[in-house]
Amino acid sequence: MKNPCSHCRPSISRNPLGLIPLMICLFFFTWGSDASALVIVRHFIGGSPPTTSIGEGNLIEIFHAAADQWERAILDDHTVIVNFGWAPIGGGTHTLIHQGGIPNRETEGTILFNNDTNPHHFQWWLDPTPDHHEEFQTYQESFQNLGGGRINVGRVFSEPVGEFASGNYHDLLSIALHEIGHALGKSLANKSWGQETTEGMIEVTAPQPYPGTVIPLARNHAGVTTHFHPTKIHGRPIMSSAQSRTRQALSELDIVANAQLSRFTNITLNPLHSHRISHQAAPVDFLPANTTVRTDNEKRNEVAFQ
Ligand SMILES: [Zn+2]
Repeated sequence: MKNPCSHCRPSISRNPLGLIPLMICLFFFTWGSDASALVIVRHFIGGSPPTTSIGEGNLIEIFHAAADQWERAILDDHTVIVNFGWAPIGGGTHTLIHQGGIPNRETEGTILFNNDTNPHHFQWWLDPTPDHHEEFQTYQESFQNLGGGRINVGRVFSEPVGEFASGNYHDLLSIALHEIGHALGKSLANKSWGQETTEGMIEVTAPQPYPGTVIPLARNHAGVTTHFHPTKIHGRPIMSSAQSRTRQALSELDIVANAQLSRFTNITLNPLHSHRISHQAAPVDFLPANTTVRTDNEKRNEVAFQ
């Protein structure tokens, strides 16, 4: 934060009345820095949206909605700077830039979203109202017992109406939530990663909720990845694979995993504050974790989703 209050600085020395805006600014600045909260500093670094995207929304507003959802989920006092923008990178990417502190956490990272027009890469639907989900007709939650009790593993909006219903477009809000999830701990470059993962799994321990939960991770040719296993975990949590024509919200599993990795202890397990959909489907309880169902969509998305 280089200059939190520059608009009132020139008047301080010349005019005693300048003290009034200074005091006001100091009040807000002090109040903000004392509050215990996760602060995701959002720094837009530019780029243009792809000409192939649909929807009247924009990356900045959608990224704010995603960061706000994570800030509602994690209430620990921590600040992370996230640079974000458009670039021809195929899908979504996250790069850790700085980390530190006790417990160790990422303090700055960069998230990029694809803006090339290759039909085999992610093409976007840009929701003009990313805080609301009125374009979807169905919302469904799913649950699975991974050893620590029945935990929510998916909050998914589907059956969209309008232009998002046609074509192979992905919801940019869902991918922004996913990439911020990497910035909050799920990164191979994060020093906490190796300490909190063993044999391709994240073990949830007290004081986190659902202690005893064991989260299997996906693998690729290089070994264990920072994504949930696409078939052993059901229900499409944010940190699993993406699917076109749907929206994923943060699941309990997404939040608890990041809390375990980055030692957050003050979390809210349902940060959604608006559904506004016409139909809430009955919850789904999946079978134990060794049941596998694999679709072509999952295989394809593993390639583009980083
Ligand atoms: Zn990823």
